[in-house]
Amino acid sequence: MKNRREIIQLMPFAAAAVLAACGGKPAETTSSSPAPAPAAESTPPAPGAVDPATFPMLDEADPVAAALGYVTDSARADTVKFPNFVAGSQCVNCNLYSGVAGAEAGPCSLFPGKKVTATGWCGSYVKKIA
Ligand code: SF4
Repeated sequence: MKNRREIIQLMPFAAAAVLAACGGKPAETTSSSPAPAPAAESTPPAPGAVDPATFPMLDEADPVAAALGYVTDSARADTVKFPNFVAGSQCVNCNLYSGVAGAEAGPCSLFPGKKVTATGWCGSYVKKIA
């Protein structure tokens, strides 16, 4: 059981996780304008933008990561502190993960500017929608 202080500290991250899990898509409109073309699979970063591939790895000791029980290997998830862990859950199949298929690590919307391991896990895991 978390104490009140820990819960209050995690609230902004939980809200971000919920928004990211919802996909952040606006409601459907009845506009007759054509839908935009889908983005290319591997679009290079815009000029001046930071390439997510260059992001540093998230450290398990990072205060927020530690509070959320982030581990670089889901086999080490603290199932006592996080009984919501389900076997097979990993960053790579989390809705907040946006790494390239087959990559060992990638960005997570919960930790801007950092990469998490594809095999990692944290207590904010949200199953990716197929
Ligand atoms: Fe990010 Fe991994 Fe946690 Fe999902 S499980 S929120 S990808 S750190």
